[in-house]
Amino acid sequence: MRKEFLSYNPPSIGDEERSEVMDTLRTPWVTTGPKTKAFEAALQDYLQAPSVVALNSCTAGLHVALVALGVGPGDEVIVPAMTFCATANVVEHVGAKPVLVDVCPDTLTISPEAVAAAITPRTKVILPVHYAGHPVQMDELDALAERHGIAILEDAAHAISTRYKGQLVGSRKNLAAFSFYATKNLTTVEGGCLTGEPALVEKSRIIGHHGMNRDAWKRFDRSGSWYYEVVLPGFKYNMTDMQAAIGLVQLKRLERFQKRRREVVARYEAGFKDLAALELPVERDWAHSSWHLYVLRLRAGALRIDRNAFIDGLKERNIGTSVHYLPVHMHPFYRDKYGYKPADCPVAADAYERMLSLPLHAELTDADVDDVIQAVRELVQSNLA
Ligand SMILES: *Cc1c(COP(=O)(O)O)cnc(C)c1O
Repeated sequence: MRKEFLSYNPPSIGDEERSEVMDTLRTPWVTTGPKTKAFEAALQDYLQAPSVVALNSCTAGLHVALVALGVGPGDEVIVPAMTFCATANVVEHVGAKPVLVDVCPDTLTISPEAVAAAITPRTKVILPVHYAGHPVQMDELDALAERHGIAILEDAAHAISTRYKGQLVGSRKNLAAFSFYATKNLTTVEGGCLTGEPALVEKSRIIGHHGMNRDAWKRFDRSGSWYYEVVLPGFKYNMTDMQAAIGLVQLKRLERFQKRRREVVARYEAGFKDLAALELPVERDWAHSSWHLYVLRLRAGALRIDRNAFIDGLKERNIGTSVHYLPVHMHPFYRDKYGYKPADCPVAADAYERMLSLPLHAELTDADVDDVIQAVRELVQSNLA
């Protein structure tokens, strides 16, 4: 058994990130300034995005996107049940109603059939999530959005480097929000960005910066002027140069991170594929996943222990795991406000009971991965029903 506890997703921050942060602290610009501009340009280049605004979180990006799209009271936004709470919380922030729908059994991404069934005359936005880094079925969602005249806003928190039919998530005209939180594939500690067509992104930038119609940082250099006007009561969601300094280094390292993630996933796949008690994550043939998460499911009835006992067993063997996610419709706030039952999104509710996320990050060695495989195999083989 392994001696040291293996945590499931620590950030990969090295000397280069640390020295960029120190370098930033020696310049007059510590908050939004030239490094944030450079990071936006680098992201735009990497994502092949029409335009980019860097923000202090993905949640902020989703929030300003909904404001920019004019979503408010009386409107409905379709959100998958299998996601992090922020995807639905932002809909509440603008006074609209999140309509929670079920996910596909294999990828756990939003079900286009469930979206079609949930559309009403009040639907303003479909808010799909590229869950675990696997792309959603964009063609089907596009067809629905076009037929009903509704917008798409992508929650791309897991999806840096994800491709749908060869196209990078973030390269489309509609708004997409990425996260650079500490656990994500690329981190700025806290941070995020919004991509999309320039008019919508610039509107979002203003909404995320007090509603001021000029970049604040330009006011303080020689090219700028002291003058600005507030065009709406905006929010304070700007990224800082301290964060962007880390992001610039992380973006250079991203391809190596992603290569290592795919190697780890291949090793897990080879280590588990003969175990009938496990349902392994899939990558459909039209998909290129960023592999943000490696989500295993225990097959119903195959083991004498449940998911919680399985997690405890791994912890005893010094393997850290997590669960992504308790479905949104089962959180007390959403359950009580809208009267949801678990069975309203049966695929998400069932997956939740059986799922756990194994360690997946760029710092894992082959020996670490083999420790995880050995611990999982022992637990399965000693607990067969
Ligand atoms: C992490 C995450 C978010 C929120 O990202 P922040 O940058 O922490 O605001 C939103 N949606 C999903 C699916 C996430 O995993």
